[in-house]
Amino acid sequence: MKQDIKRIVGLTVLVVLVIAAFVMGVRVAKLVDLTYVEMNTTPTPEPPVRNVMQVTIDPSAPTPQPVLRSGSQGEEVWQLQTRLRELGYYNSSIDGQFGPGTKNAVIAFQRQHGLDADGIVGEGTKAVLYSDQAQLKATPAPTREPVSPAMPWTRTDGLPLLVNRENFMPEGYQPAELVNMADYCSSNIVKIKYSDTQAERMAVDALIAMLKVAHTQGITVWQVSAAYRSESYQQQLFDQQVDEYMDKNGLSYNDAVSATRLTVMEPGSSEHHTGLAFDITVPGVAFKGTEQAEWLADNCWDYGFIIRYASDKEDITGILAEPWHIRYVGTEHSIPMRDENLCLEEYIAKYGSY
Ligand SMILES: [Zn+2]
Repeated sequence: MKQDIKRIVGLTVLVVLVIAAFVMGVRVAKLVDLTYVEMNTTPTPEPPVRNVMQVTIDPSAPTPQPVLRSGSQGEEVWQLQTRLRELGYYNSSIDGQFGPGTKNAVIAFQRQHGLDADGIVGEGTKAVLYSDQAQLKATPAPTREPVSPAMPWTRTDGLPLLVNRENFMPEGYQPAELVNMADYCSSNIVKIKYSDTQAERMAVDALIAMLKVAHTQGITVWQVSAAYRSESYQQQLFDQQVDEYMDKNGLSYNDAVSATRLTVMEPGSSEHHTGLAFDITVPGVAFKGTEQAEWLADNCWDYGFIIRYASDKEDITGILAEPWHIRYVGTEHSIPMRDENLCLEEYIAKYGSY
C-alpha cells in the first residue's frame, strides 16, 4: 500500500510539473514573441546624423580662407585695411577696395615679417597679420652713404648712388653741374614742361644723345616733366600734402605725415635729388603703353639709363611700376643691369663693396 501511495504522489507531482512546465513554456514563448514584435515595430533609430554633422563642422578643422589680392573688394578687404592701419602700414581711406595703396601696405607688412612679399593676402600672411606676432610698422633709420667728392653721383666703391626709403641722399650733397634744361636742350629734340627744370649736365647730354636716335627711328614726341629736385623743394611738396590731409581729411599731424609718406617721397629719399633722374612724358596722354614707353624700355640701357621702377621689381623697390622714370647710371652699369635683369637695389646688393 505504502508503495502505491508513493507512486500516485510521485505521478501527481510529475503531472503537475509537466503541466506547469507547459504553461510556463507558453508564457516564455509569448514573451519572446512579444519582444520580437516590439523589436520589429519600434522604429530603428535614425542613422548617426550627429556624427556626420560633427565631421563637417569640426571646429578644429581649418576653414578655407579667401585669398585677397589687387582687385578684391568687400568686407574682408575692409577688415584688412583696418588692421593694416592699426599697425601703421596703411593710411589711405578704408573703402573695401584692394588697390595699389593696400597692396603696398601688404608688401611692407610682409617684408617686415619675413613673408613672401607678393602683396597677396593668403593663409600665411593672414595668420601673422591677425596674431600677436604682427608688429607695428618700423621706420628704419635711413643711412646716408658717402660719395666720391669728384663724382658725387657715384658711391666710393664706384657703383651708382642708391636713393630710396632706406638710403637717403648723402648729407650736404652738392650736384656737380646743374644745367637749365629748357636753355640747354633743343626743343626739336625734347620739350621741357617747366622752364625752371634743372638736371646734371652729364645726364642731360646722355638724354639728348638717346632721344636723337629715337627721332631717327620715327619717334619724335618727347617731354620732360621732372628732373632735379632739391631736398628743400621736396620738403615743400611733402609739407603741402601733409597740410592738405590735415585740412581736407581732418587727419592729425602724425596721421597726415604717415599718409603723405605713402604718396610723396620723403625729403632726402627721392631719386630726383640726384639730378640724374627724368620723368619722361608725352603731352596729353598717359605714358604707360605709348610707343615712347616701349622704346625707352627697349633702348634706354644702351645710353646709360635704367627703367628704375619696373613692374617685375615692385616688391624689391617698394614702388609701383613707373615706366616714365629713367635714371642715369652710365652704360658700365646699365648694360649689366639689363643683361642680368637686376634693379638698382639688387645690383648694389650683388656688386657693392659695403
Ligand atoms: Zn620720377
